[in-house]
Amino acid sequence: MHSGYFLKCDHCGHLNPLKTEYITFCEKCHKKMINNFPDWNRNHPTKTFSDFIVEIGVFENSIASLQPTKKIATKKRIFVLFILATTGTLGVFLINADFSTLLMPAKTPKKLLNADWSRYVYSKSGWSMESPERFSETPLELSEQEAALVTEAVAINFQPSKNLKIEGVSVLYREKVFPNLPLILRNNLQNLIHQQGVTNLEFKESPAALQNLRGVLLEGTYHKQGEFMRFQMLVYSNRFRHWHLVISVDDDDPVGKAVAEKIINSLEIEENLKSI
Ligand SMILES: [Zn+2]
Repeated sequence: MHSGYFLKCDHCGHLNPLKTEYITFCEKCHKKMINNFPDWNRNHPTKTFSDFIVEIGVFENSIASLQPTKKIATKKRIFVLFILATTGTLGVFLINADFSTLLMPAKTPKKLLNADWSRYVYSKSGWSMESPERFSETPLELSEQEAALVTEAVAINFQPSKNLKIEGVSVLYREKVFPNLPLILRNNLQNLIHQQGVTNLEFKESPAALQNLRGVLLEGTYHKQGEFMRFQMLVYSNRFRHWHLVISVDDDDPVGKAVAEKIINSLEIEENLKSI
């Protein structure tokens, strides 16, 4: 389940596969690694091995960027940090976009399922999916640092109840800047677990494909303020753009879960979309 993640040895830099939570000694230099899970867990008693993997682990696909071997590696590394900062900020926007939920019903109303569903196409972000009503679509303001790497970022949003939230972002990169899926995922997971009151994050990762796009699907659960939540995180990319969708729904909301599933199953992406 976690075979794509590694623990970097603080002595020799070797990447040790994070197969179990008992990885303590480096398989290459055999020294004890400071950043091992049992010690980390002692300082973070409320956190799980999944939290550790996200916060401390290194994704397999990012090895090339994280293990500097030649001179160019420094340049690459700075670049990776920039992307981290970029996607990190966009991720924060998504996760923190808590609209006023005061007037919302807790459970997703059944009438949403029985309503007339239509396919809505979001021309600024390239999303297309069936839903009972049109999502909001908003271009995001970019910081100077983000604007250096990203031409535009557009968010879509739908929250019919306190229990169900669907958020997406579509990011168009500047020439010679490429989306880095493992880093995008890692950042967004970090943003998820750093939300207030989120604990017990568990997830599994699987490859996803849509049309000609490659991507990754993360499915999992977490606890938030006493509620047992399910989430799906889908990330797709091509050479120019990445699309990122997060659906979170209370496990105790069958209508919400059915609405989420129906929307996900109808998902299409206009992958040749270049600019607004
Ligand atoms: Zn080592």
